[in-house]
Amino acid sequence: PRTNRPGLLDGLDPEQRAAAAAPRGPVCVLAGAGTGKTRTITHRIAYLISAGHVAPGQVLAVTFTARAAGEMRTRLRALGVEGAQALTFHAAARRQLRYFWPRVIGDRMWDLLEGKLRLVGQAAQRAGLGTEAELLRDLASEIEWAKASLVTPDEYPATAVKVQRDSPAAPQQVAEVYRLYEKLKNNAQVLDFDDLLLQTTAVLEEHGEVAREFRDRYRCFIVDEYQDVTPLQQRLLDAWLGGRDDLTVVGDANQTIYSFGGASPRPLLEFTRRFPEATVVRLERDYRSTPQVVELANKVIGAARNRPAGSRLRLIGQRPPGPEPKFAEFEDEPTEAAAVAARVRTLLDAGVPASEVAILYRINAQSEAYEQALAEAGIPYLVRGGERFFDRREVRQAMVSLRTAAGDPPPTELVTAVRSVLARVGLTDQPPAGGAARERWDALLSLVEVAEELAATVPGADLPRYVAELEQRAAAQHPPTVEGVTLASLHAAKGLEWDAVFLVGLAEGTMPILHADGDDNAIEEERRLFYVGVTRAREHLWLSWSLSRHPGGRRNRRRSRFLYGLLPEHHPAARVPRSQAARGGAKPKCRLCGETLAGTMEIKLGRCERCPSNLDEGLFDRLKEWRSARAKELKVPPYVVFTDATLLAI
Ligand code: ATP
Ligand code: MG
Repeated sequence: PRTNRPGLLDGLDPEQRAAAAAPRGPVCVLAGAGTGKTRTITHRIAYLISAGHVAPGQVLAVTFTARAAGEMRTRLRALGVEGAQALTFHAAARRQLRYFWPRVIGDRMWDLLEGKLRLVGQAAQRAGLGTEAELLRDLASEIEWAKASLVTPDEYPATAVKVQRDSPAAPQQVAEVYRLYEKLKNNAQVLDFDDLLLQTTAVLEEHGEVAREFRDRYRCFIVDEYQDVTPLQQRLLDAWLGGRDDLTVVGDANQTIYSFGGASPRPLLEFTRRFPEATVVRLERDYRSTPQVVELANKVIGAARNRPAGSRLRLIGQRPPGPEPKFAEFEDEPTEAAAVAARVRTLLDAGVPASEVAILYRINAQSEAYEQALAEAGIPYLVRGGERFFDRREVRQAMVSLRTAAGDPPPTELVTAVRSVLARVGLTDQPPAGGAARERWDALLSLVEVAEELAATVPGADLPRYVAELEQRAAAQHPPTVEGVTLASLHAAKGLEWDAVFLVGLAEGTMPILHADGDDNAIEEERRLFYVGVTRAREHLWLSWSLSRHPGGRRNRRRSRFLYGLLPEHHPAARVPRSQAARGGAKPKCRLCGETLAGTMEIKLGRCERCPSNLDEGLFDRLKEWRSARAKELKVPPYVVFTDATLLAI
C-alpha cells in the first residue's frame, strides 16, 4: 500500500481524524454547524485514496445543492484529489441513467421535461380542476413531494390524510392529476427531475447485471447534509450500495430545512440502528464562528421543541472572541435596507472583501429592497438561489402589462391604476398562504409600494411616469459580478459561510413565515432555518427587522418570536419610537429587559408585553391555549400583557 500523504490528517482534531481515518465501512458524523463535517469528509476521501484503500474513480460523494457539490469539488482539488466524483443526487443519477439507458431501455435517453406547469395544467384540466397559476404550482409541488416520498398516485389519498398534508385540492383529485401528469409525461417521452432518481433506482433494482457492473465501479459512498435526505434519495443510495456498507454520512438534524419537501433526519439519527458496527463521531468544537456567534446559535437551537435524541448537541466556540452580535429595529423596510447597506459599506471600507459579506432573508421577494439599497450605495452584489427581482417571472409579466396599460393610461390617481393592472397578473387583496405563492404576491405588492412611494413624493405622477421609474430602477441594478456581496435566501445559504452575515426582516409573518403560524412542525422548521442563518457567520452578525413595510405605513409588524431571549439584557430597546423621542423626557423602562414601556397596562405592571421571561417554561403556550379557549369573552390582543395572578389562574 502507498504511504499516507503527510498532512492529510494534520488539519483535523482528534474526533474529526477518527472519522476521516476510520477503516472502510459505515461511518456517521453527527454534529452541529461549523464543526467541520464537510471538512472531515473531504479529508476522509483524500486520506482513503492516498492510503490506497480506494481509487479516486471508485468514490462517489453526493450532496443536495449544486453550490454545495461545487464547494466539495473545490475542497477536494485543494487536497490534491483528482477523479473522485462530488455531485448532487440528481446530477449523479442523470449521469448514470444516460449510461444505462441504451442497454436496458433503448436508444437515446429521454429529454428532461420543460414547461412542467403546462403539463400539470393539462392534467388538472382533464381532472376537472381549475388551471390558475397558483393552483398549478401547488399541484406541481405536491406531486414532487409524493414522488420524493415514494408515494404513488394510488397511495396518495390515504397517505395525504395520514400525514396531514395540506393538499391543494381534494386528495382524490390531486391523485388524479398526479396520475394524468405521469401519463402525459410518458406519452411525450420526457423525464422530470424526480424521474432521474426513480428510473436510476429502478434500473439498479431490476437489472442485476447492470447493478453488478455499477457496484464494481463504485465502492465508497459519502453523503453530506444527510439530514435532508428524502425516501427516494435513500432508496437510490441503497440501490447504489446493494447491501454493502461502505457509506459515510454526515449531518446535523438541527439543520433539517426541507421536511416540507419530504426530507427527514430519521436515516441520520437511526444510522446506528441500521449499521450497529458503524464508527460514530460527534463533533462539538465550532471552528467557524466566534464564541459570541456560537453562544447565540446555542440559544436559538436550545429553544427548539421536540428535538429528537441525538440532535441535542452544544457547540463550543474555538475561535478568538469577536464583536457582539448586533440587533436593530427599524421604522420600515427601506430604512432597514439602507442601514444594512451603510453597515456593509463600513465593513468594505475596513477591508472586508465584498465576497465575505452576505445578506440573508427568508423569501426571495425580500431581495428587492436590498438590491435597491446596495445599488444606491454603489456596492456590487449577486443574488443566489433566486432570481434578481426584476428578472422574476411575475415581475416581468407585470412589467409587460404595466407598459401596455401606460400606453393608454386610465384616468384614476396612480395607485388604483397600478393595483388594477396587477390584479390581472395575480395580485389578490389577501396574501395567499403557500410559500412560493406568497413570494410572488409579495413581489407584486412591492410594485404597488413603488407606486405609493411615487404618488406620495411626486404629486400627479401618472402610469407612464411610474413605468419610467420602474425601468430606471431595473436598469440601475448592477449586473451580477463575481466579486460582490451575496444576497441569498436562508435555504440557499446552507453549508456556506461568510465573515459578516446580515439576517434581515426578522419580523413575524416573514421569519417565521406567515403560513407556519399555528403549525408547530412548521414553526420548528422555521426555527431551524433561523439557526442555519445564524451559524453562517464567522465573525460579524447583524440581526434586524422593521415595524412597517414602507415609509409612513402602519407599524403593524412585530419582531420575530425567535428573537425573544436573544436580546442582551440591557439592550437599549433598539430604538425609541419617533413620537416619544420628539416629546422627550424619561420614559419608564421594563424592569426585566429595559425596553421603554408603552401603554398604561405595561407601565402599571412595570414590564413589557414582549419580555422574554414571559415565555419561560412554556407559560406563553399555556396562555395561548387558555386565551383561545376564552377568545370571545376576553377580546384580548394577540400578545396580551398578563399578570402573575393570570398565570396562576391558568
Ligand atoms: P455546516 O453544518 O454549516 O455545513 P460543517 O460542519 O460542514 O458546517 P465545515 O464547513 O466543514 O463545517 O467547517 C467550518 C469551518 O471551520 C470551515 O472554514 C473549516 O475549514 C473550519 N474547520 C473545520 N475543522 C477545522 C479544524 N480542525 N481546524 C481548523 N479549522 C477547521
Ligand atoms: Mg457542511
